[in-house]
Amino acid sequence: MAQLSGDCFAFGGPLLSVDDAVALLPSRLAVVDGRERVALASADGRVLAEDIAAPLPLPPFTNSAVDGYAVRGEDLPVDTEKSFAVVDFVQAGAAAAVAATAGRAIRIFTGAPMPAGADTVFMQEDVRVEPSGAVVLPPGLKRGSNVRPAGEDVQLGQIVLKIGHRLRPQDVALAAALGRTEVEVRRRIRVAVFSTGNEIVSPGAERGPVQLFDSNRFMLLSMLARLGCEVDDLGILRDDQAVTARKLKEAAATHDLILTSGGVSTGEADYVKAAVESIGTLVFWRMAIKPGRPVAMGVIDGTPFIGLPGNPVASYVTFAYVARPAILALSGTPVGLPLSVPVHTTFVYRKKAGRREYVRVTLRKGESGALEAVKFPREGAGLLSSLVETDGLVELHEQSSGVTAGQVVPFLSYASLVA
Ligand code: AMP
Ligand code: MG
Repeated sequence: MAQLSGDCFAFGGPLLSVDDAVALLPSRLAVVDGRERVALASADGRVLAEDIAAPLPLPPFTNSAVDGYAVRGEDLPVDTEKSFAVVDFVQAGAAAAVAATAGRAIRIFTGAPMPAGADTVFMQEDVRVEPSGAVVLPPGLKRGSNVRPAGEDVQLGQIVLKIGHRLRPQDVALAAALGRTEVEVRRRIRVAVFSTGNEIVSPGAERGPVQLFDSNRFMLLSMLARLGCEVDDLGILRDDQAVTARKLKEAAATHDLILTSGGVSTGEADYVKAAVESIGTLVFWRMAIKPGRPVAMGVIDGTPFIGLPGNPVASYVTFAYVARPAILALSGTPVGLPLSVPVHTTFVYRKKAGRREYVRVTLRKGESGALEAVKFPREGAGLLSSLVETDGLVELHEQSSGVTAGQVVPFLSYASLVA
């Protein structure tokens, strides 16, 4: 599972910026080997391991874009309406028996192949059908109107999907339109997930009076599943350096990434950091990010290790900015930054310059119709309800020292952060 050399994260500097973290990960993490063929119905979210070239053009044949009447371009009425005899009828899935000839139209439906000779279709809404059955076509329609030429969507031989592309439903649709039943994809990233802490117990287990049910592990398992990872839930590590070291080393042998939460700040009981150092290399990233400052990244026997903070909100945010880019890099797919949209603040917020801060907000439509962000009333990094009751994060850049009401700031939806 060797992905990393021990010193590959030695960039120096105590506080890594969010942008540097996101930029560095793809260049330092090797794409996993291994590929498999999957049926199209289960290809969504997978990363392509082949270029897909079109073995046929799309559409494969020239056809009508509307329900109407097909005629030859040289017969189009120019200045006045013109009557045509209707000589055939062609539905989608069938072919016209006769060609369009001078003064004759063919009744045609959407998706039906253009009859020989015809190159223009009048929409049925624009014509008049006479009691005799003849159709009167209005003047002024351009030659070629309402026709979908073969290959206008995709040309024969065109590369439509490239290696490294993470498939979305519309990509799967295109592969299907080209007649594919399977695609070649990279294998899933195998991720080992641990929680840490003597105070943490699994839901369903007995909880002592000073213990908490584990929430991070279930959040991380869910986010990893969305990224298409093969996830091993390895439970909770007690605050014990030797046991932690042994379990992490075991996990390193069979996974592409180890993800933990908690135990990486500078407290006495933060054994994860020491455990990683005892069996591998740890570069302790005190990232310039709030919530989330303690984020550890390291290497154990060549396998990357990411230690997220224990506080649930910090864990969520740093997953989006460290773990997600790492997983995409291991999958060999571009790490696109989440797309932000501009919103207006309705609050005053002070921050320290020099670090990126994320403020939990709910969106509403302001009087002018513009989107306004309303800040969650409290700020603790342990408040799970703050993530549940809001729509996303307002991003305040390193240089900013805060905002006042009415400023335009970038907003990131939770959907864009964990997709
Ligand atoms: P730590 O980073 O281990 O000092 O943890 C910081 C805070 O996050 C503490 O209040 C922990 O109790 C809490 N915490 C740590 N791990 C979890 C978890 N898996 N689920 C919920 N809260 C946690
Ligand atoms: Mg702890």
